[in-house]
Amino acid sequence: MKKGIHPEYKECKVTCACGNTFMTKSVNEEIRTDICSACHPFFTGQQKFAHRGGRVEKFKNKYNLD
Ligand SMILES: [Zn+2]
Repeated sequence: MKKGIHPEYKECKVTCACGNTFMTKSVNEEIRTDICSACHPFFTGQQKFAHRGGRVEKFKNKYNLD
């Protein structure tokens, strides 16, 4: 088995601009973001963002929520 081919996923601390922090798995040890599930309108129940095509998908892709 060769080492170093696959990225190694480890515990990653995500720090949001709103002050929220949470843990996820990533190849990075630390991620800084300006929006998260605690401050994103989609997660706080506002409907208007849900109607903007592609926005949620972009968000999910950007932060690997799937
Ligand atoms: Zn946030």
